[in-house]
Formats: sequence, structure tokens, C-alpha cells
Amino acid sequence: MTHDVVLIPGDGIGPEITSAMRRVVEATGVQINWNVQDAGAGVMGEYGTPLPEHVLEAVRATKVAIKGPITTPVGTGFRSVNVALRKEFDLYACVRPCLSQPGDGSRYRDIDLVIVRENTEDLYAGIEFDEGSPEVVELSKLVEASGQKPFAADSAISIKPISIARSRRIVEYAFEYARRCGRKKVTCVHKANIMKATDGLYLRIAREVAERYPDIEFNDKIVDATCMGLVQEPHDFDVLVCLNLYGDIVSDLCAGLVGGLGMAPGANIGADVAIFEPTHGSAPDIAGKDIANPTAEILSAAMLLDHLGETDAAERIRAAVRATLAEGSQVTGDVQRALTGSAEGAVGTQAYADAV
Ligand code: ATP
Ligand code: MG
Repeated sequence: MTHDVVLIPGDGIGPEITSAMRRVVEATGVQINWNVQDAGAGVMGEYGTPLPEHVLEAVRATKVAIKGPITTPVGTGFRSVNVALRKEFDLYACVRPCLSQPGDGSRYRDIDLVIVRENTEDLYAGIEFDEGSPEVVELSKLVEASGQKPFAADSAISIKPISIARSRRIVEYAFEYARRCGRKKVTCVHKANIMKATDGLYLRIAREVAERYPDIEFNDKIVDATCMGLVQEPHDFDVLVCLNLYGDIVSDLCAGLVGGLGMAPGANIGADVAIFEPTHGSAPDIAGKDIANPTAEILSAAMLLDHLGETDAAERIRAAVRATLAEGSQVTGDVQRALTGSAEGAVGTQAYADAV
């Protein structure tokens, strides 16, 4: 069977790591009909937008895509092309597994945890007002009328919406994921002791949902304590279900536990559409030099193959990555540097993909 998949190479290191990923996927023998679609700064001139309608149309048709990172050019009317994609298809759950590999260069061993990040609301909803705007004056009046201390007139404001339905949906996703993947525990990450309305609501809903999953252990932890716990005793964690902003930060922290951003894959899942992408951004500092680590992109492709039901090919890719890193003679500069303190002897992006 041939699978139709949209491939968005993206920019920065995107084209290099997606071409490496594509060769690895093709080596499994799984038949994929790649529908390559460009988005980002490169298409601005031609279409006047970094996210043209025909790209959305293509994803709507295949319902599945894999992408490289996309930088959002300033002054496009988009805060983030990546966030716009997640919103367009209501990709509410961002799943980021962090799994130690032998030879990943990390200080930690045997890490095996998963971040489930809410992808659609919180401070990333994109509702913001600049300092001095009329909305800020109006909001300040509302705050005062409610009996709360108004904020300074020169404040900029970001709104943090946290809804009952979306809190329930993400926590349910985390528990269903835990069940499906044989995981033992879900930790709800929050700051409800300070943000009693928003995070308080989220925690309350999480506790309600947890009652319906007696087979899965549940606890909650404030986000600051979670960060400390992750660096001190990461093996205490299994599935972490996080609001959007905490999920962003905790994802990078956890990537650091397993060898860095070049290692951490991800999936954005909605009811109809799934888009796979690494945790990292476009890393313009190392773009075009054939030195980026494509592992995160390659492991994102393994998640894509799982999603397509090609679990055997997915497992073979993971095994090949594991073997290549364990053998250790053909790794990219970030890994080599973590292992030996110098990038000397590292191989390039494409040579590493060949080894895999
Ligand atoms: P975003 O806002 O999209 O998260 P960012 O500003 O956090 O982007 P990234 O592009 O994620 O930045 O990367 C931060 C740094 O990590 C890069 O500048 C690069 O040096 C390193 N890095 C990221 N991805 C990789 C990779 N695949 N291989 C090697 N190094 C990487
Ligand atoms: Mg980042």
C-alpha cells in the first residue's frame, strides 16, 4: 500500500534534515508518495504569505504531514507559521517522547518519558495587546471594577485562556496514550498555587479525568518543582501532561536529558490530521553546512510510520538510529562534542543518515 504524505521541508536546517529523513524512510521499503510543499520565508515573495492556502489544502487531503522547522518572517501577520498550522487543523496534542540512546552524549542514562503538551490555548493563544493600546485601558477598567488591583497603564498584556473542554481533552489524551503505550503514570504539570483561576481549573479537571483511569497512577506537580525533579530524578517521571507554555519549556529541558534538541522528535495530533516535526527550531546558525543532527527529524518519521500502521518499519528505523549512535564512529558534531568535548571526527548530516 502507498501512503500519501505531505512533506514540508521548511527553512534553516529543515531542507537538510528532511532530505536525510526521507532517505532513511525510503530505505525501509515503505511506499510513500511524498507531496512536497514549501512554506515559510521562501514562498513569501510568490504568495504574499508564508503559509499559502494550497499547502493547507494538501494537508487537508492527505491528513498527514511531516515537516522541518519553519522560521516565521517578521511582519507577515503570523506570530508563528508552526502555531498557525496547529491551529488550522486543531492539532491539540503535542506528543514528545524523550528516550535515551546509547552514545547520545547525555549525562543521563535510561531516560524514558513522554511530554504531552496542550497545543491550542494558554499564553500561546496569541491574544496580546501592546502597551498604551485602547484595549489595555479598557481591560484595566474591567480589572478595577472587579475589585482587583489594576495593572500599570504602561503594561503590555497577554491573555491566558484555559478552558474546561480543552483541559479535559488534553488530559484524556494523555491517559489514553498512557494506556495504549503501556505507561504507568501521568503527572499533571501546573502552577495552580499562583494561577488559581487558569491552572486551578486545569488541575481540577485533570483530577476528575484521572478518576476514570484507576489503572494509571496519577499525581500533580508545580512546574518549577517539576523542572528540579527532572534534572535530579528524571526516572520518577513517565507521562507529563503540560499546559502549552510549560510544555514548550519542559520539552527543551527533557531534550537536554537525552542528548539535546537534535534528538527530540514530536507529533502534533488532532482529531483528523497529524503533523510530525522535531522539537527544535530552524537553527539558522548551523543551516546549510551539513552539520545539523537529523535524528529528531528521523525519529519523527518513525512516529509518522507508527501513525500509518507501519510499525515494523518504524521499529527498524529506531533500531538503526540506536545502533548507529551506539557504534559511535559516524555521529554528528553535537553528539561528538557532547561525548568528547570536540566536534573533531564528526560526520555530516547526510553521512550520518547513510550510516543509519
Ligand atoms: P524555536 O523558537 O523554533 O524553538 P529556537 O530559537 O528555540 O527556535 P532552535 O532552532 O530550536 O532555536 O535551536 C537552538 C539551537 O540549538 C540552535 O541554534 C542550534 O545551535 C541547536 N540545534 C537545534 N537543532 C539542532 C539540530 N538538529 N542539530 C544540531 N543542533 C541543533
Ligand atoms: Mg525553542
